[in-house]
Amino acid sequence: MTLLGAAQIRELAEELGIKPAKSLGQNFVIDANVCRKIVRIAGVTSSDVALEIGPGLGSLTLALLEEAKSVIAVEIDERLATRLPQTVETHNQSTAAFRVIHQDALQLQSLPESPTVLVANLPYNVSVPVLLRMLEIFPTLKSGVVMVQAEVADRLAAKPGTKEYGIPSVKAAWWADLGGAGSISRSVFWPVPGVDSKLVSFTRHQPLGDEELRKKVFILIDAAFAQRRKMLRSALSSIYGSSGAAEEVLNKAGIDPTLRGESLLVNDFCTIARLGF
Ligand code: SAM
Repeated sequence: MTLLGAAQIRELAEELGIKPAKSLGQNFVIDANVCRKIVRIAGVTSSDVALEIGPGLGSLTLALLEEAKSVIAVEIDERLATRLPQTVETHNQSTAAFRVIHQDALQLQSLPESPTVLVANLPYNVSVPVLLRMLEIFPTLKSGVVMVQAEVADRLAAKPGTKEYGIPSVKAAWWADLGGAGSISRSVFWPVPGVDSKLVSFTRHQPLGDEELRKKVFILIDAAFAQRRKMLRSALSSIYGSSGAAEEVLNKAGIDPTLRGESLLVNDFCTIARLGF
């Protein structure tokens, strides 16, 4: 199958009258090798139902269709969503294995088939909420690779004690083990973005707890990182009513109340949450 190159991307955009919108993070990949590389890193196989958020003009979609059993693409821009089936057909690929849904991924509730792998060049302004939402609402998603702004990739894959470690790192770690999977040159995009890009891969791990626990853990995470410089006993005081009460719970959990949120693993937040509030 032939994939899309720079010339085809520009032609398609012209045909559709698309001026890439910064507000929708529309930077299209014009390098077929990069698309194949992303699919390879994701380890997509012929038994996978791949979910792609933001297929755009179809660069990565066509590479996914070479390997996956089926591809479900969710695109917010109606012109792009409407044109995709034709692009898939033109590139000698049966449309049987391909479905496109015209929707904001953040509003997505369900899909026609349970996805097993997420592979996407995510719209950068909503990359973290989109990733967290997909992990939350599709428990069948076992793994994936997403391309995001370099700084966001560093935050998602960060380990405790680093300056990159924060809310995205701990919330994503509730669902999965994440790691950096390489940098992507700015020159593979049209238009060339003003930021660097990196790949992040993830593998879902065993659930750390039920939905009730997750909600509590996420409330604790938000509070712990709301003011990064605060010690936990003071950062969590609004949840427990006072810093004294927060200190008591932290002591019970075996966690030093003078630590900051940036020192805690997601499992530590689970230990605190299990003590209730
Ligand atoms: N996958 C294509 C590629 O690699 O060339 C396009 C990637 S581009 C970075 C992001 C795409 O996400 C655009 O097509 C944009 O219209 C779409 N998009 C932006 N916000 C979205 C949202 N909330 N839900 C679904 N798609 C969105």
